Amino acid sequence: MTPRLWAACTLGVLVVVLIVYAALVIPWHRPPAPRADQLAALGQLPRDQVQRAQAFHSELRPGSYLSLAVGLIGALLLGLTPLGARLVSFAGRPFGDHWIAQAVLGGLLVVLVVEVITLPLAAWRHTIVVRYGISTQTWGAWAVDLAKSYAVGAVIGGLALLGFYTVTRLAPRWWWAFGALGAAALVVLLSFVLPVIVEPVFNKFTPMEQGPLRTELMSLAARDNVPVRDVLVADASRRTRAVNAYVSGFGPTRRIVVYDTMLTEATPDEVVSVTAHELGHAKRGDVLVGTIIGALGAAAAVIALYLLGSLGWLLRLAGTESMREPRSIALLLALVTLAGLAGGPVQALVSRRIEARADAHALELTGDAATFEAMQRRLGTVNLSDPDPPTWEYLMYASHPSTVERMAAARAYARGER
Ligand SMILES: [Zn+2]
Repeated sequence: MTPRLWAACTLGVLVVVLIVYAALVIPWHRPPAPRADQLAALGQLPRDQVQRAQAFHSELRPGSYLSLAVGLIGALLLGLTPLGARLVSFAGRPFGDHWIAQAVLGGLLVVLVVEVITLPLAAWRHTIVVRYGISTQTWGAWAVDLAKSYAVGAVIGGLALLGFYTVTRLAPRWWWAFGALGAAALVVLLSFVLPVIVEPVFNKFTPMEQGPLRTELMSLAARDNVPVRDVLVADASRRTRAVNAYVSGFGPTRRIVVYDTMLTEATPDEVVSVTAHELGHAKRGDVLVGTIIGALGAAAAVIALYLLGSLGWLLRLAGTESMREPRSIALLLALVTLAGLAGGPVQALVSRRIEARADAHALELTGDAATFEAMQRRLGTVNLSDPDPPTWEYLMYASHPSTVERMAAARAYARGER
């Protein structure tokens, strides 16, 4: 069998494994949240508040879509014309066209071009979130955050590109196999490392101070049989007024993080309700599930790239000789951008189902549907979420059920519907 046939078979197996795994572990059946309850909940939200949230989102929309379009067009222009390959060569020239310079600096240059052309739109977005009082950041703080995220992306991206093109050079015929393994391993590694190394770059985390709330949260976790190392408070208030909580990492790095804004904006009961939702994620190992799906997807993507690399016309379009050469970086980026766009709605659907299950867990664990509903209303109000977003926007992007959906789920639960 030729390497290409092996690659095609491996890709086939990976895709089947991915589908079977997803079919088995994703809670496709979601708890009831009848539309009638959603509309009733919507009707009970203060009208001016709903209008303000909708106005906020309609102001954000043009910039968001423009940014999406500009980013896509930029990636395609660089990747499906020789422009990107020329940028990569340009980056390598001062270093005698060394492949390492091309891979790392060329890769950074290509990504930076796309970032820079969408930067004005990000700035526009910032003016809107500041005007609506969500963001508390000055331009200086905003720029520092941006620079930090570029730096983090540059380190991770640079290492990934370096690893990728090292493998393509060492194993010209079988690089797809090593590349697939490496990509999967990188996803797993990042899952462990990001909460410990990258999150502290952006926020300061401190253990929640001793007191009745902390005691209650830890005993909630104990009652739920979820080992939690710590409940941490993130100093999100230096950036935003929005409230949030999340669970990240798994095994020894698993932690529950609550925004400090949550502690000032929400009642202690509501914080308990949010934490119960996060415990639902921890209990079901949702971070691990996401990591496994991500690792399988990353491995499949590398093999797909290898197979696409046999399309002569595609390489000619991109002005590169082979996927194995750093000059293919822009083509890679274009393909990844397209795949991300196509996979987005599926990812959003999977995320919404997992979130709905965590909601159900919170309701069951606390047995307090009223507080859960109040907490959802609070989250929606403070964060200015559109309580009932337009259908296609919901299908394309929503990572969580809508506010009215979550309120409706609480009402259905209270009536005993499961
Ligand atoms: Zn969640």
